[in-house]
Amino acid sequence: MKIYNTLSRTIEEFVPIDGKNVKMYTCGPTVYSYAHIGNMRNYIGHDILEKSLRYLGFSVTRCMNITDVGHLTSDSDSGEDKMEKAAKKEHKTSMEIADFYTKAFFEDFKLINCKVPEIVSKATDNIDFYLKIISKLLDEGYAYQSGGNVYFDTSKLNDYYCLTNHREDEMVVGARDSVEEDNNKKNQADFVLWFTSSKFANHELLWDSPYGRGYPGWHIECTGISIKYLGDYLDIHGGGVDNIFPHHTNEIAQSEAYLGHKWCNYWFHNEHLLDSSGKMSKSKGAVLSVSKLKEMGYNPLSYRFMCLNSHYRKQLMFSYDILKQNSDILDKLKSKISNISNDGNFSKEDFDNYNNKFISTIEDDLNTSNALTVLYDVIKDNSISGNTKISLIKSFDKVFSLDLFKNDSDINISSELESYVLNKIEERNKFKSLKDYSSADKIRDELLEKGIKLIDSREGTKYEII
Ligand code: AMP
Ligand code: ZN
Repeated sequence: MKIYNTLSRTIEEFVPIDGKNVKMYTCGPTVYSYAHIGNMRNYIGHDILEKSLRYLGFSVTRCMNITDVGHLTSDSDSGEDKMEKAAKKEHKTSMEIADFYTKAFFEDFKLINCKVPEIVSKATDNIDFYLKIISKLLDEGYAYQSGGNVYFDTSKLNDYYCLTNHREDEMVVGARDSVEEDNNKKNQADFVLWFTSSKFANHELLWDSPYGRGYPGWHIECTGISIKYLGDYLDIHGGGVDNIFPHHTNEIAQSEAYLGHKWCNYWFHNEHLLDSSGKMSKSKGAVLSVSKLKEMGYNPLSYRFMCLNSHYRKQLMFSYDILKQNSDILDKLKSKISNISNDGNFSKEDFDNYNNKFISTIEDDLNTSNALTVLYDVIKDNSISGNTKISLIKSFDKVFSLDLFKNDSDINISSELESYVLNKIEERNKFKSLKDYSSADKIRDELLEKGIKLIDSREGTKYEII
């Protein structure tokens, strides 16, 4: 597979360190607010990457953190802790805020069919490990204590800016709004590994450490969680493009200083979702979440479809008109698919032919819009059997995850769904009483295709939406 690597600024062949086993890390959400659909674009990008790798025969172990401490209102270590700020505003504890928004995040994650990574870990669950890293960085002269905090000394590295085109002078105070002067730093690019209570006396989340009671900086959590759960070598690590600097730049600095070797080979970055006022961002006020879209009557998967129609490295403009257009196209697509009858013989040759085309699109730096074109071509092609078409579409949907075989009009409205399924169950019972088991099974399978699972029990047949 070919993938754009931010580190080399080129499209490269993806070669994992351990043959077919991929170690993948995704920077997770900061859970002080609902995630907006821009954040979710980034997670859809990661989901497509993971599922494409699996489709191509790689096995993937993926890890994601949950930031529940240490991310300040500026990414460059100034301002207030985002969690604490939200806790004060909502009159709750930071932990209550974190639990509430983590739950909301995963609900939205599932609504857009993102697979939960094998390993999900909260920043606050790994403090000892960060302290172990910080201690080694201090021992080896990569870090220093100043004004109560522990800082990483960026001047100790030959190529601190390896991931980005940033130059030190761009970081000069005042050149960027978000950078505040911190006189404790030796170099303006230095960043905090550990804050202590001496600077933030009223901080709610504090841990004992050899440097004073305090809390970790934002960047150390991803280094710590990645190394703790995935080991000393990482194949691919990603986030949104705003994570390139300073977050990922700092992660590389501290990880490689700690490990003493190159840490991660490929860096994967998703471009932003924009709205009419620019980059969609949590701090701008009302958050447009996936759940909100659902409440407004949109199928959350039409948002996923909208993202797949564009390339992950291109900025994407959001408007309700564009979403509506995508929703209509997805409905039409699904209606065409539901009209394909499962007849004719399965042809391995036809399957391989289209499957190879599909593979070549995802191998081409995850070109999902071209992959969708292959799907349209399959649907249009009258020379291949319905059976082969259905197999191909089911197979492609392992990556797209658009529920191409679920009929939303059947499962959207609960009362309609209820009577629809109950009628089907009654019909099936009639067939069973006539000992026509093949017709009964056909009904069960039809419902299953629509995401409704029948469960036979002594009390009768129940159903479950899957
Ligand atoms: P946060 O919860 O703020 O830490 O952000 C979670 C992820 O969403 C990060 O990887 C960001 O890079 C990404 N992100 C933030 N804003 C956007 C946006 N407007 N479009 C796409 N990704 C975004
Ligand atoms: Zn991170």
